[in-house]
Amino acid sequence: MTTRSWWGWGTVEDAVTPEERRALVDRVRAVLPDADLTFHEAPDPATLDVPASRIEPRALFSTDPVDRLAHARGKAYRDVTRNLAGEVGQVPDAVARPRTEQDVVDVLDWCASNDVSVIPFGGGTSVVGGVEPRDLGRVVTLDLQHLDQVLEVDPTSRAARIQAGVLGPSLEQQLKPHGLTLRHFPQSFEFSTLGGWLATRAGGHYATLYTHVDDLTESLRVVTPQGISESRRLPGSGAGPSPDRLFLGSEGALGVITEAWMRLQEPPRHRAGASVRFASWERAVEATRLIAQSGLHPANCRLLNPAEAFLNAGSPSSVLVLAFESADHPVDALLARALELCGDGEVVEGAARQWRKSFLRMPYQRDAMAQHAMITETFETACTWDRFAELHANVTAAATEALRQVCGIGIVTCRFTHVYPDGPAPYYGIYAPGRWGGLTAQWDEIKAAVSEALVTSGGTITHHHAVGRDHMPWYARQRPDVFGAALSGAKAALDPQGLLNPGVLTTRST
Ligand SMILES: Cc1cc2nc3c(=O)[nH]c(=O)nc-3n(C[C@H](O)[C@H](O)[C@H](O)COP(=O)(O)OP(=O)(O)OC[C@H]3O[C@@H](n4cnc5c(N)ncnc54)[C@H](O)[C@@H]3O)c2cc1C
Repeated sequence: MTTRSWWGWGTVEDAVTPEERRALVDRVRAVLPDADLTFHEAPDPATLDVPASRIEPRALFSTDPVDRLAHARGKAYRDVTRNLAGEVGQVPDAVARPRTEQDVVDVLDWCASNDVSVIPFGGGTSVVGGVEPRDLGRVVTLDLQHLDQVLEVDPTSRAARIQAGVLGPSLEQQLKPHGLTLRHFPQSFEFSTLGGWLATRAGGHYATLYTHVDDLTESLRVVTPQGISESRRLPGSGAGPSPDRLFLGSEGALGVITEAWMRLQEPPRHRAGASVRFASWERAVEATRLIAQSGLHPANCRLLNPAEAFLNAGSPSSVLVLAFESADHPVDALLARALELCGDGEVVEGAARQWRKSFLRMPYQRDAMAQHAMITETFETACTWDRFAELHANVTAAATEALRQVCGIGIVTCRFTHVYPDGPAPYYGIYAPGRWGGLTAQWDEIKAAVSEALVTSGGTITHHHAVGRDHMPWYARQRPDVFGAALSGAKAALDPQGLLNPGVLTTRST
């Protein structure tokens, strides 16, 4: 039995050990000798001044202050820093935990009759303010944790009907006896849900081909205030705009996803992988593009720039971590061809292993370092290959300048999380000394500068982290105006009272 951290990532038991913390602090001190790295303990949530609930207790509803507090934010850096500072802000008035789909319908009906907003909640790992009641009246957070079963498996078509509230590990555990797997492993896999992945169009394990959870989705069942939408199970369909595509990425603003038929596969039996070091970033980018365009479809094709490789893979040069997998056929020949495409890149040992280890510890280490007033956060995008060099230069310059102005100094790293034949999905990391008491404002300033650079350089405001509340200003600029109007029309048709996650995807006046 483990305890979820109320203020940061994961479980209390898996938080950084004292030795790990000391090593992290020593590493930072070696490069930033003047940084104030004083440790700040997280406040006891029971001592925080949580506003009283404005909703009478009723069946399925919890109005417990600590429960409500634990549902008030996601798990972005700015959520962690506000929690650490004891800033309570707005919390939901109640947390409703439906046990059946009919309960979901009943909660929506009750909220509609009582003019209460509803925020669907999966694992609460949003990094974009997606589950945060911000500038709202009375709010019920609808936590789907009890809708956690694999209901039906179709081994012939290799698909399963799965409830939306299931967490990643439980989902895989329930599929295992059937010899099948979803193989959707976002970094947040352990604490995020199928419904959350679908609602945010999460990016998972595969670096190519099946990058977003969309590609694994066969059909969806969604409860809206106007009724239930269930799409037909089909391997493909040309019958007009896809209902699934309307709800994938709808971020709780158009309906509550209760179930999905998901496409499965057998676990891989054949694997081959290698890490390749390059003399220059430009050569590494070129080789990655050639592989992305080769039709080889590596499962992993993660390019780390020198700063990222130095921090997390023990190499001072650009490193490409490559892996192929298949349940059906050997993949060594695919790896061999990919290595040919790497040209003069040099195969190195150990980088992939070290990268994977760092990758899993990163969220815990981010939070530990926030306790020492370090700013450690990420932002991500995607763009076409022809624009990448310029976007990368603009974004790196904007981030470096923002760090200089806000923190005096800092490091910007880059890696590709996913690659497509027509472009990469670059993911940036920021490491800088912050000021205790001002961390959230400092990050917000940096984030605004980099978001501006992303959107003006032709990238997307998000490749897989979703829009939420934090990305709304840039999303509104990125999408075509007529599409924005069409989305508002869909919102008005499905949720005419505007109950569902107000402020996300559509503005409240439209
Ligand atoms: C350390 C860390 C690593 C991460 N790594 C990744 C990654 O590798 N790839 C990636 O894509 N994202 C990643 N994320 C972001 C986040 O985990 C994803 O957005 C994830 O899909 C959210 O799932 P969740 O169940 O936690 O949803 P929540 O955070 O609970 O909700 C997210 C949004 O979806 C809505 N929602 C949730 N469930 C439903 C439902 N059943 N019906 C309708 N709407 C719903 C909510 O209202 C909210 O708008 C990461 C986040 C953190 C903190």
